[in-house]
Amino acid sequence: MEQSGIARQLADDLWLVDTQFQGERQIIASYLIVGEGELALVDVGAAATLGPLLDGVREAGFDPADITRLLLTHVHLDHAGAAGALVRQLPRVRVYVHRIGAPHLIDSSRLMRSATRIYGDRMERLWGTMEPVPEDRIEIVDDGDEIRVGARRLRALYTPGHAIHHIALYDEARGVAFPGDVAGVSIEGIDFVRPPTPPPDLSLEDWDASITRLEALRLQRLYLPHFGEVDAPARHFAILRRRLHEWGEIALAGMRAGKDDASIAADFARAADPVIAEHARKGAAEVDAVRRYELATNYLMSAQGYIRYYQKRHPELLR
Ligand SMILES: [Zn+2]
Repeated sequence: MEQSGIARQLADDLWLVDTQFQGERQIIASYLIVGEGELALVDVGAAATLGPLLDGVREAGFDPADITRLLLTHVHLDHAGAAGALVRQLPRVRVYVHRIGAPHLIDSSRLMRSATRIYGDRMERLWGTMEPVPEDRIEIVDDGDEIRVGARRLRALYTPGHAIHHIALYDEARGVAFPGDVAGVSIEGIDFVRPPTPPPDLSLEDWDASITRLEALRLQRLYLPHFGEVDAPARHFAILRRRLHEWGEIALAGMRAGKDDASIAADFARAADPVIAEHARKGAAEVDAVRRYELATNYLMSAQGYIRYYQKRHPELLR
């Protein structure tokens, strides 16, 4: 069978499926874990990319009808968007999600409304419609819970900072993790780590604590939603932590100078884009690296995340 490159095998029981967000490669990943007569997906991408997701499962050699579990790191549209449609189409599927995220799946209208405020009439084309997940198809996950998928035991680690309903999934036996967005954005082949910092939950204190918790695991490898494998997690986390705070300083300076979100976003771009481009030239020679990072996590949303964080949590720094 000719491979279109949507699915790539990473381990004996693990595949990366590229959901091809907006027809682009290496923006949003889903990870397929294969057990005996069962399949699990770690994050499922946007509702709009349900087709490529299922094509990827087939390309890996499996029948989507065997998908039994969706393990969601958090309920943002780019990770959980397709969950409701999968549940509707596949009667055996159950959805694993942190306790705080579950209500947003059961009633997805609030997530859809807030996204529509941002994306307007581009909403449907970009993200599709996030269907609700019936309550009786949801398994609530709390910190420390173990989820067995085939030969793997995945431990849920509550890791807020990017979102208050965020978990990482830790596979101790293999020394790897599916860390979700609290591990940042780093597109394979480009040596650059960018912090995705959207409103309304951004917390630098929580994020620091989550990084510290993940660092303590001394992981061998990360499987990032945006995008792909990281083989030197210690270095990756150190860079992520540094940039998270550097951008905080940029945002804070901008706010003190009376700048708006667009202007602070432009400051982020001035600081980061030349570095991304430089790394892309040295690495995979991807000429459009800057654009692809922006698709995975955009500067405007990052600026809005920091602004809300400082206004809500640290008004004393703005006086
Ligand atoms: Zn994301």
